Amino acid sequence: MASFALHGIGVSRGIAIGRAQLVSHATLEVAHYAIPPGALDAEIARFDHAIGDVLQELESLRQVVTAGDAPAEIGAFLDVHWMILRDPTLCEGPRRIITEQRCNAEWALTQQMAVLVEQFDQIEDAYLRERKADVVQVVERVLKRLLGRPGPVGAQASEHQTILVAHDLSPADVIQFKQHRFAAFITDLGGVTSHTAIVARSLNVPAVVATHNGRQLIRENELLIVDGTNNVVVVNPDKSVLAEYRLKQGELGLERAKLRRLRTKPAMTIDGQEVELFANIELPDDLPQTLDSGAGGIGLFRSEFLFLNREGLPTEEEQFEAYREVAQGMGGKPVTIRTFDLGADKQQAGLGGLSRMAPNPALGLRAVRFCLAEPRLFLTQLRAILRATHYGNVRILIPMLASVAEIDQTLVMIAQAKESLRERGTPFNDGVQVGGMIEIPAAALAISSFLAKLDFLSIGTNDLIQYTLAIDRSDDAVSHLYDPLHPAVLKLIAMAISAANRAHVPIAVCGEMAGEVRLTRLLLGLGLRSFSMHPAHVPGVKQRVLTSDLPEIGGIVDRMRRTDDPAKLIALLDKLNA
Ligand code: PEP
Ligand code: MG
Repeated sequence: MASFALHGIGVSRGIAIGRAQLVSHATLEVAHYAIPPGALDAEIARFDHAIGDVLQELESLRQVVTAGDAPAEIGAFLDVHWMILRDPTLCEGPRRIITEQRCNAEWALTQQMAVLVEQFDQIEDAYLRERKADVVQVVERVLKRLLGRPGPVGAQASEHQTILVAHDLSPADVIQFKQHRFAAFITDLGGVTSHTAIVARSLNVPAVVATHNGRQLIRENELLIVDGTNNVVVVNPDKSVLAEYRLKQGELGLERAKLRRLRTKPAMTIDGQEVELFANIELPDDLPQTLDSGAGGIGLFRSEFLFLNREGLPTEEEQFEAYREVAQGMGGKPVTIRTFDLGADKQQAGLGGLSRMAPNPALGLRAVRFCLAEPRLFLTQLRAILRATHYGNVRILIPMLASVAEIDQTLVMIAQAKESLRERGTPFNDGVQVGGMIEIPAAALAISSFLAKLDFLSIGTNDLIQYTLAIDRSDDAVSHLYDPLHPAVLKLIAMAISAANRAHVPIAVCGEMAGEVRLTRLLLGLGLRSFSMHPAHVPGVKQRVLTSDLPEIGGIVDRMRRTDDPAKLIALLDKLNA
């Protein structure tokens, strides 16, 4: 097999070596793992049980329909499902795949489904072709049963060596992978600060995006090396390349172990300035990693991830449980819950018309705009967050603010949510701090009104860069233009930090810039004392803080602030990091 390299954008550092698993959408939700030879019969039995359960389910539904006055079509529809399920292609095929490929039942079933769906696609008769949807529905029913009856514990071990290869993944797709342990992943599309990349980083595995045709060129089960640090994927490496990468992988492991020892050390510069290093999380499941990283708190809980990958919206109770779990888990350390930032690339199925694709989603009804347009949804979330304030040190953060009117309206909503909790007699912290994100240039330029009304600020550099440079952060065609060091971006960040420091209003950076070690000294020099980043980046940034001397940095950063020359900026940054 010929060896070749693919270039893309490394969005999550590190090296992974493993076998390719090509991802198509229908199989996204299904884990793939090896079944030991001795457990194959049990796996087939698990599959047979699931089929039996669904047949029974369909039969009882049929009886209900026959007894009642339901339209005849429903009965016919159940009959079709019953027939599909009894067809040997669906009930025999997967058994064979389980035995031959020694894989789990869910995987075998979706493989077989893909074959069937392809056959249906080729049928001339439009009516029969439509039955494809029934096949998918039947398979989904069986999958649900299987997932309620998981396979043997530990069987997922082989995922450690599996590398996912997809054309594109949405943030919602990627968040599902949190439950599995893949070694790395590769996509054809994507940009550095797309939400997909951010979630990929949170999986803490190497990832290379924007390979353009990787999904087409890589074959199932091929050996791959993913080097997220150097933006490269090696397909079918030869022995010497493989040996070299294994060596590098070992060195990186040692480096990580060394950094881990800094876990309990306070983040302080050489000249004695304390710096806050907080974590960004997406779900309560991220807590163990956050605690392990030594982060001093949570600077950004992207609560909208509670709304993805589900039918319907989470209730107040469900949200409250998630927020309380995080608040309690952090044991009194600050937990900054961002109210949900849906819209743009994070769409929620249950939001009906409002979640429709806007002509220009990033400039559309997103984040706080969406919340203010949907007051009931917003109030539900605010009540849930307020209730969690009773169980820890919780703060509220509002995303995508552009104008004072939005702050005023949000504060009124918070007051309303408090009032309804008071009426219910539910405890909450009346003094909860409310902060705002500086993500739109307008907010950075008119920051004084934000400072007057909010308790703290957090700069979302991912969006600030997107909106300053007019570059869609999720579009890989323009990702090469995405530049945190653009003089205009630096000016806006510098301006926001200085104004907040002068007004004694705490300000943090919670965009990806905060976790980039090469930018740590620049941000420190601009006066930043609070950083929030993916937990895996905390140790590296801490090490950089520990070796930084503010008086020494100051002069270089002042020169960086004064120049609009990109080449000079790079040279000065190199000097800063020397
Ligand atoms: C940002 O925009 O920098 C940010 C932290 O928010 P998100 O990446 O979730 O949009
Ligand atoms: Mg943002």
